Amino acid sequence: MLKLKDIDTAPPKDANKEEAKKQLKKLAERLELQQELLYANKKYSLLIILQGVDAAGKDGTIKQVFSSINPQGCNVKSFGVPSADEAAHEFMWRAYQQFPAKGMIQIFNRSYYEAILVTTVEKLSSPAKNKSRMRFINHLEEYLEESNTIILKFYLHVSAEEQMARIERRLSNERKKWKYDPSDVRDAGKRDKYLAVYEKVFTECNVVPWIIVPADAKWYRNLVVAETIVETLESLKLKFPGHSTQQPDSGQ
Ligand code: ADP
Repeated sequence: MLKLKDIDTAPPKDANKEEAKKQLKKLAERLELQQELLYANKKYSLLIILQGVDAAGKDGTIKQVFSSINPQGCNVKSFGVPSADEAAHEFMWRAYQQFPAKGMIQIFNRSYYEAILVTTVEKLSSPAKNKSRMRFINHLEEYLEESNTIILKFYLHVSAEEQMARIERRLSNERKKWKYDPSDVRDAGKRDKYLAVYEKVFTECNVVPWIIVPADAKWYRNLVVAETIVETLESLKLKFPGHSTQQPDSGQ
């Protein structure tokens, strides 16, 4: 089984920050083009799942990697504590309507995986229930991919020191203070428990593989995420259609 402790959270030694920033600018242009192609073709959709412990950089990744693309072609859904209505339904209910339409990019800031992660750590549901949820997730992700929804699942991997430093820095930064949540400090104490569940999820829910991103340095994190998305979209080799009389797949 994959062990997160064995995987670096820092960028590789040969990665260069200035070079990465130049590459990121070019990647932003390539992403802008690929998003237009995706939208124009209406054949595929892209679901991006961002997971990680508190302060792993999910919000920052969304802001920094996607700022170049047309807002009309991209939606973001954040998964917080379920509302009373959501909690009264089966766990996938609140995610289901958020899967991307053909041509669209959908970003999940956290996701249905929280219904495995937090529920295991806080003992909110039984191991048998979560096993069954994981089976369902595997089937669903496989089905979505067969239906031309491309899924990229990123785990932003930060060290305990970097995580704590970021949570504390929020308190001393006027623009970030609102993000400070005492429960993040409490949850950081449960970090090892969270990592253990993540490791289980990486093994059991890998019909669509996870991409573990060294995320202590934001520039390197952004580079890995942007590069993966751009290369995935470019591999579809989409071309601009000539006219718009073609009907999109109904998905039925
Ligand atoms: P963030 O911390 O990402 O900025 P929020 O504080 O609004 O966002 O919501 C995240 C919190 O919601 C996390 O503590 C997460 O564990 C919790 N959460 C998300 N999904 C679930 C779920 N299915 N069951 C219980 N708690 C959940």
